[in-house]
Amino acid sequence: MLTPTAFEPRGKSPPKADAFRMRFVSIRNSRLMEKLYDVFEPTIVRLHPLFKAIGYEKAERPVAAVEKAIKGALFDCRMCGQCILSSTGMSCPMNCPKSLRNGPCGGVRANGNCEVYPDMPCVWVKAWEGSRTMIKGDRIAEVQPPVDHRRKGESSWLSVVRQKVGDEPQAPAKKH
Ligand code: SF4
Repeated sequence: MLTPTAFEPRGKSPPKADAFRMRFVSIRNSRLMEKLYDVFEPTIVRLHPLFKAIGYEKAERPVAAVEKAIKGALFDCRMCGQCILSSTGMSCPMNCPKSLRNGPCGGVRANGNCEVYPDMPCVWVKAWEGSRTMIKGDRIAEVQPPVDHRRKGESSWLSVVRQKVGDEPQAPAKKH
């Protein structure tokens, strides 16, 4: 049986160094990203009446497409649907080949690089670095629940809006 995973390397080769350059710029500027998100979140939450009027299911596809474009460029987002960037120093944990969401595995190399992709700095080493410049960086110590792969492709932004206004769906939304 095929095990679903949020991590999908581009082809069979390890990612080239260029592939994660932008991600590292975002991590280096994690405090700025945190501030931007602190402005963005209440703004999108205020759009709840609009999303409600359109219907969250209808809004899902266009909002997810915008989220994917922006977060894909900035963070190499894999659209897991349960974003925890604010708790991981702005380093997306789904770029870890093992999809670890609670810290690194035991295979981090002495130079801080990934066990699976020796040319790639460990996602969690970068997460720790990013968290140290953030105001709420200590959230990196919070224990994260296992990733729910049924939510892959969903918009985390819409999910946050629904959580904040207490309008969460009873069951996971359908995949598109
Ligand atoms: S939505 Fe998931 S895959 Fe995308 S940046 Fe956030 S944690 Fe990473």
